[in-house]
Amino acid sequence: MLDRDNDLNAWDRDHFFHPSTHMGSHARGETPRRMITGGTGCRITDAEGRESLDAFAGLYCVNVGYGRTEIAEAIAEQARQLAYYHAYVGHGTEASVTLARMIIERAPATMSRVYFGLSGSDANETNIKLIWYYNNVLGRPEKKKIISRWRGYHGSGLMTGSLTGLSLFHAQFDLPLAPVLHTEAPYYFRREDRSQTEEQFSAHCATKLEELILAEGPDTIAAFIGEPILGTGGIVPPPAGYWAAIQAVLKKYDILLVADEVVTGFGRLGTMFGSVHYGMEPDLITIAKGLTSAYAPLSGSIVSQRMWEVLVEGSDRFGPIGHGWTYSAHPVCAAAGVANLKLIDEMDLVRNAGEVGAHFRAALADALSDHAHVGEVRGDGLMAAVEFVEDRDDRRFFDPARKVGPAVSAALLEGGVIGRAMPQGDILGFAPPLCMTREDADRVVSATQEAVRKVLG
Ligand code: PMP
Repeated sequence: MLDRDNDLNAWDRDHFFHPSTHMGSHARGETPRRMITGGTGCRITDAEGRESLDAFAGLYCVNVGYGRTEIAEAIAEQARQLAYYHAYVGHGTEASVTLARMIIERAPATMSRVYFGLSGSDANETNIKLIWYYNNVLGRPEKKKIISRWRGYHGSGLMTGSLTGLSLFHAQFDLPLAPVLHTEAPYYFRREDRSQTEEQFSAHCATKLEELILAEGPDTIAAFIGEPILGTGGIVPPPAGYWAAIQAVLKKYDILLVADEVVTGFGRLGTMFGSVHYGMEPDLITIAKGLTSAYAPLSGSIVSQRMWEVLVEGSDRFGPIGHGWTYSAHPVCAAAGVANLKLIDEMDLVRNAGEVGAHFRAALADALSDHAHVGEVRGDGLMAAVEFVEDRDDRRFFDPARKVGPAVSAALLEGGVIGRAMPQGDILGFAPPLCMTREDADRVVSATQEAVRKVLG
């Protein structure tokens, strides 16, 4: 007979290659093995019967919360009726076409078409290929380099891992690839010149970008990619005036803008899209996570009308586009997306994210801003971060070997709440489901205060 817990643990150890995991430690049984068995609303349960309030929505993706039967039923119904057909050479299904329309109805008015993928990474790969194709159509074969920011996160593929501006994702794999360049992160708290105001720092970031463009040659730079608010790089909202200053430079040198909204799309900042929230006017928008709230894997590249017209012209010259995934616009995933977007409307989750987010961030700042080892409490909408420092006055960071961020997140988990130790710096991040209540927000704040007290006094 199956000894369920022991066998599952052994099978996990012997057969499962986990992503983003220390392989040796895990094989030796030194890292926690946590088998997740269920979830409802903002809470998940594990095989040992422990419940946790998930204040990171999985990986900032379960936006409508766990256990939504409306989405489960839509998936089952679609699988029963038609589990799969491809979208090549003009094929569609009711679910995929409906979802494309719903996305464009919600996107900024300049956007026109959706190309579907399965992950944020493959959607960004698609974006880069569309950008290269676009410049080929326009007869600018040299204009191919892509600029991203240090601390940006855009995926784990070869190209998208290159765009990601975190050293952990580069050194192990001989990345970044040559067409990718990185520029300054809009990280006001970590600015070098501490006398700068936010506006001055934004101007400085724009100047750094322009210097890079001029050094490389504007005719070689195709696009700039950025998350409206830095996510995995530390949950860092842009300083005042940042996007206006950056966009002025991009316009001057005819450089496309990709807004990577994998995290911010569909409500996380209290607006349907982060681009609108910060006044960005992108040529391409990347969407994934919140599109289905992770009930099924699905992503998309939303293409502006201006860019679409050039792509269409290209196909008249080059023939059908040589870019397709088997599972693009997968009907089961699309059905999950349709049900999810309906639920976001019915539950009024975009408004809730804005309101509960403001309450949560204010309560977090009240509880922690005066702590001797808290350098900054920041965020926007339903995203927040607490950054720990050894010394507040001279903004000295802890030695990374002390692993202060992971220690606080482990203590928080002991207290029944999930926050994420962000990968670079001692930063505790939060991005709960958009359905979080004020009461749950208060519970996350008090548990965080307690975890910080345990680890840092
Ligand atoms: N872009 C951003 C902004 C992300 O946060 C992520 C994932 N965290 C990705 C792209 C990559 O998405 P995926 O893991 O689905 O490939």
